Amino acid sequence: MTRREQLRREFEGIKYRNVFKKYVNDLFQKQDGDCFYCRKAMYEVLDGYTEPPIPEIPRMYYRYVVPNYTYDHKMPLARNGTNDFENIVLACAPCNSRKGVKTCDEYLAELSNPFY
Ligand SMILES: [Zn+2]
Repeated sequence: MTRREQLRREFEGIKYRNVFKKYVNDLFQKQDGDCFYCRKAMYEVLDGYTEPPIPEIPRMYYRYVVPNYTYDHKMPLARNGTNDFENIVLACAPCNSRKGVKTCDEYLAELSNPFY
């Protein structure tokens, strides 16, 4: 591989990562900082911070709040899901591991089943 080719590939990689980062940030806002499935908050408030909340600013944007989410494939890769952005949502770690290879709809049905 030529140096030029190598630089081009590096550039493509950085470009992809930046686009992905932006997509994930937008998604985090769109989901209001909550898990796509169970709707629990996917951020932790650091200990010792007692700043009073400001009503017009959602808590997830405070500097003492640390996002805590995982990427989940709505259609699992194991079931021919893709790595396309549209197939990715942000989920809490317990949901991600509980969902396993279920599809988005299967898992949502399971969550809403009171007998589960
Ligand atoms: Zn969850």
